[in-house]
Amino acid sequence: MQYAPVEVNGTRYRWPRRPVVVVCIDGGDPAYLQQFLKDGSIPNIARFMKQGFSAVADGTVPSFTCPNNMSIITGTPASRHGISGNYYLDVKTGQAVVMTGPDLLRGDTILAQFAKAGAKVVSITAKDKLRKQLGKNLDVSRGNVSFSSEFASKCTMQENGIEKVLELVGMTQPGMYSMELSWFVLEAGIKLLEKNRPDLLYLSLTDYVQHKYAPEESEAKRFYQYLDRSFGRLTDLGAVVALTADHGMNDKSNAAGKPNVIWLQDILDAKFGKGDTRVICPITDAFVAHHGALGGFVRVWCTGKATPRQVIDAVKGLEGVESVLDKETACRVHDLPADREADVVVISTANVCIGASEKDHDLSGLEGHRLRTHGGVSEAKVPFILSVPLNDEYKLKAGAATLKSYQIFEYALNGALH
Ligand SMILES: [Zn+2]
Repeated sequence: MQYAPVEVNGTRYRWPRRPVVVVCIDGGDPAYLQQFLKDGSIPNIARFMKQGFSAVADGTVPSFTCPNNMSIITGTPASRHGISGNYYLDVKTGQAVVMTGPDLLRGDTILAQFAKAGAKVVSITAKDKLRKQLGKNLDVSRGNVSFSSEFASKCTMQENGIEKVLELVGMTQPGMYSMELSWFVLEAGIKLLEKNRPDLLYLSLTDYVQHKYAPEESEAKRFYQYLDRSFGRLTDLGAVVALTADHGMNDKSNAAGKPNVIWLQDILDAKFGKGDTRVICPITDAFVAHHGALGGFVRVWCTGKATPRQVIDAVKGLEGVESVLDKETACRVHDLPADREADVVVISTANVCIGASEKDHDLSGLEGHRLRTHGGVSEAKVPFILSVPLNDEYKLKAGAATLKSYQIFEYALNGALH
């Protein structure tokens, strides 16, 4: 059935003629694809890149999971959707607020608006922290589905639009830190495509593997080979497949294998005194074992006498700092929502990360692994791949400007030749 285009947050999206599957390969740095294309272990992705469309796009900065998933699902930058990190500081209460609530997400999601127009949609995410925002205003009573593989065993018709997920997928409940958590998302998407033939699917994986393994390591290859087979099965079922990532990943350890960390709160406390500034690491969530809450982007709120100018002067000369910006500049340069931005934003270089106070970060979960993490500009380049070629209009459009990863639904729906 063919319906009228659907407008979401100012962009018109064409009704899909066949199922469209957008996959967010969490932490899917372009370096992984380069490595596996070289050795021929991802033939389906190689075919998409050759016969369909392939580019490297700009993701949202900070290059974290929540902001980028929200950019992709709303088709807008963070300045519009408001989710600029996993955490921000509520200056009225002094509390760090987790930004995973649907009430904090501004605007509509592409999935919810298509569902409202009569499409059948599916949203599956690895970690449950994303599920509620991805499923914002999505009516799951009419055949639409929204769940996480983390809570696959607990799905109910009322909350998720689906039940008995483990039986459907034919896998056991995967562990929180496992590559199976992502595989489960893909396998569930394939099973639902076979069974219900939904119009639009959004499948969002987890970056457990990329945090732990460099592209050269065999476990990373094993993971990508599975992804590649799954993408092949999706196209075999007649779907258009669109691949992107929320962010890349960089090794941020030194020659001895220890993390290269700027302990910014300790530095600022030594300079201005305790309580004068508050460093928030917006990578923080409930599951920090694989990165110790260390990323390439932190926010500093001036809560005492120190002015933003003084903080900037204190930080700008530090080794490993790529940029230090006041609020206004950070919002302009990185398209961020001003009402949730700090007084100062600090971004590190590719091989360095930034923490708050050394005593507050638990690095025991790294278990002898090198620290690989993300958050800065150097992890904001992501793949942008379609399994089918672009039409002439979108070929022109793609050639005229750097692609943004939040345009992936637009390209898959309006630009894909099918
Ligand atoms: Zn991520």
